[in-house]
Order: sequence, then C-alpha cells, then structure tokens
Amino acid sequence: MDRYQGKKIAVVGLGVSNIAVVSYLLRHDIKKLSLFDTRTNPPYAEEVPGGVDFNLGPLNVELLKTYDMLVVSPGLSINMPEIKAAEAAGAEIVGDIELFAHEVKAPVVAITGSNGKSTVTALTGYMMEKAGLNTAIGANFGNAVFDILSDRVQTYVLELSSFELETTSSLNIDAAVMLNVSEDHLDRYDGSIEKYAEAKRRIFKNCKRIIVNRDDPRTMPKEKAEKSRIFASFGLDNSEYGREVTENTTYLCVNGKRVLDARDLIICGVHNELNALAAMALADAMNIPREVQIQALKTFTGLEHRCQLVRILEGVSFYNDSKATNVASAEAAITGLSPRHKEGIILLAGGIGKGQDFTPLKRYLGKEISRMYCFGRDADKLLALDKKRCVGVMNMRQAIRQAFAESRDGQAILLSPACASFDQFKGFDERGRVFVNLVNNLISRDDLTSS
Ligand code: ADP
Repeated sequence: MDRYQGKKIAVVGLGVSNIAVVSYLLRHDIKKLSLFDTRTNPPYAEEVPGGVDFNLGPLNVELLKTYDMLVVSPGLSINMPEIKAAEAAGAEIVGDIELFAHEVKAPVVAITGSNGKSTVTALTGYMMEKAGLNTAIGANFGNAVFDILSDRVQTYVLELSSFELETTSSLNIDAAVMLNVSEDHLDRYDGSIEKYAEAKRRIFKNCKRIIVNRDDPRTMPKEKAEKSRIFASFGLDNSEYGREVTENTTYLCVNGKRVLDARDLIICGVHNELNALAAMALADAMNIPREVQIQALKTFTGLEHRCQLVRILEGVSFYNDSKATNVASAEAAITGLSPRHKEGIILLAGGIGKGQDFTPLKRYLGKEISRMYCFGRDADKLLALDKKRCVGVMNMRQAIRQAFAESRDGQAILLSPACASFDQFKGFDERGRVFVNLVNNLISRDDLTSS
C-alpha cells in the first residue's frame, strides 16, 4: 500500500529540499497536502503547484495538530513548541531524507561532521564517477535528494547535516563517515556540543560500514551493535588510514603503507589530508580500486569558497575561505596555510557567531595571524580577543583595503570568517563572491589612497 495513502501531510518550511518534497508527494494519493512557512513570502512560493494549501506566517499549532505527518525543513528546529505539540498529538515528524529512504534502491554513502563534509562528499563522489559508476551527490550538499532520485543512479553520495539526521530513521547506508565534531549550531542544541554530536551519530543507526576519526572520540559510535560495524578509522598518525610525516613531505598511508605523497594533492592543508583519507576509507568500503582513488585524489581541485587562492598581488596571496562558518574551520585554514606564509596571515572574520566561543582563535594572534579585521554582527566578540591585533571595520570592502594597505610581500590575506554570513550576505557563497570581486578589483597599494 502507498505509505501516504489517505494521510494529511504538512510540509513545514519551504526551501530547496521541501519544494522537491511537494512535487514528490503530489504524485501520491494523499488526503490533503498543505504547506506551512513562518515567512510571509518564502522562497520558491511561485513554484508550488496548484492544489497545495498555503499557510504563511506564525505556525498555527491547532491546525498543525490535525496532520498525520509533518515534513520539516532542516532550516527549522523540530524542538519548536508548535512541532512538539503536533508530535504529541500523534503526528509523525520526518524530513525529506526519511521519505527518500523509502524510495532509494541504489547503495548510499553518507558523510557527516562539523567540517569537511562537502569536500569529502565531492571527492568521494568523484572517485565513484571515475570508477565508472553513475553517481548522484546531494542532500546538504545543495541539491535536494528528490531532485537526484533516479533509477539510473548506481550510487548516492549524501552529505547529511545534524538537522537532516534528526528527522531520519530508516535510511540504509552502505558506508558512512563521521568526520569530526566541533562547536557549531549550538543555538539549535541548547548550547550542548554533546547533543549536537548525538544528532550526528544517528548516521550510524542503519549503516553497514562505519568510518570514524580516531582523534575525535565524539565520532565514535556508542551502541555495541554499531561499534561492531566499524570498518576503519582515519587520523593524524600512521595507523589504518593515516599519515607518515617526514622531513620533506607527508605521505597518505593505509595500514602503514605509503599510498600518495601529499604534495600530489591539489587541495592543501592537514585538514584536507584528513579529508582525503576519509574519502579513501569510504571508497575502500565501496570496493573502488586504489588506482582509481589515486587518480581522483591527484586531480580533485576542491570546491569554491574553501581555501581558494584568488590571486597574488604585489606578493600578497588572497584566499577565499568563505565556507569557514565556524571556529574550527577557520583554525583549519590558518594552520593549513601558515606553512606557506611564514610572513604571517591577515585574517578577515566576522558575521553571526551562532553562540560559539571564539577564544580558540586567540592562540594564533601574534603568531600565525599578524592582524585580524573584524566585521558583522558579532565583530565585538572577536575584537575582545586582543585589543591590539584585532581591528573593527564596517564591512568586507573596508577590511580588504585596510588589510592590503598594511600587508607585506609573502603574507596572505585570508577570508575565513568563523561565522555565518546572513547578517550581511545571502549566504557563504555570496560572501565569497563579493570577496573575490573586491579582490579582483584591487590595482595596487598606491591606488588604494586615490580611490
Ligand atoms: P562543510 O560542508 O562541513 O561545511 P566544507 O568541505 O565545505 O565542509 O569545508 C568548510 C570549511 O571547513 C573549509 O573552508 C575549511 O576551512 C574547513 N575544513 C574543511 N575540511 C576540514 C576538516 N577536515 N577539519 C576542519 N576543518 C575543515
């Protein structure tokens, strides 16, 4: 029988994933399909087909309680009182990945973690494609799972956020990795990193081959049954999927055997060596030949807005790492780039801090970071780290110009904001594009004073 037959279903929160859910559900024999969004003019509203009943503005709890199922967007917390009330009244609370779980036929590889998800997802997908498999990449990566669902797909590689995992319980996963856990989104987890990690560990529930980060205990499964399904670990030292660090270079190794000289990777930094190891472990779990993995590792150029070198002007390298939306990712960029820029890094940071503690950045000030320009809503919290080395500016344009004016040959100017972007930009990609445009418009230091 059709899982949805005769049901009243509410799609709560309109966005990339739920607009695809609406089209999917309309193909089923549903009693009533309604859409709820707290915004009066949500995105994609014009794309919603006729026959769907719209409820915009504050959520009507009494109305929500009358539905059998709520498909909640990852952008909304399932702990909102209105959603909790509907659940207490008997509604099933799910997300798009849960609905997808009942449709998917091809093997699924899944990736979660605080940082590196998109990079590992893209790299693993690239390995699968190079192995000749018709591969679809999606979920938190940016494209909705219902937009990539097809009988022609031979492997799905899904990037899953903690929010998506909270509303998923039936997805059968062939191989999954939990990359790391660091402070992020704590505003959605009552300030508790453990609650956030717990949501991420839901990825192990129905997973056949589990890959963990042996340097990060929060990535380890807690259940006995899950522990028995650990396939491999990756980490900094030279065991299982690991690294051999020599005087001249670092080798990526598997069980102590050198597989690749890290200088052959186009993506740089220790964090990307770890990302490469995680992707290799996933590829091994899916029986992708090592030769294919190596070819993929050597040619993978990385994703936009992740430690991307934009240009070198008057000896100064400008990097766009706009995707660094939390402290740990900014730290990864700083430690990854500092060996190349012994003259120092000028950091551009700020935006919405999401309740994070910024103090881990303090240790780099006066060492790897010579100066930090701070902008955006939570600039004051960053400025408090070091009154001498942190400078407040109005916006990114001012930050770039002041940083360039004071920079020296060999230094790097790095946009790695450690914050979300929504106070001043539509998203991290717009923030990155604005940075790239402003950097490309620079002519010379002398020119700064005249314009
Ligand atoms: P996510 O999808 O989890 O946000 P990305 O691959 O888009 O991860 O990378 C986001 C940022 O996180 C990058 O700009 C980089 O600075 C940092 N980063 C990438 N991989 C790692 C990692 N393994 N550990 C820590 N930081 C990382």
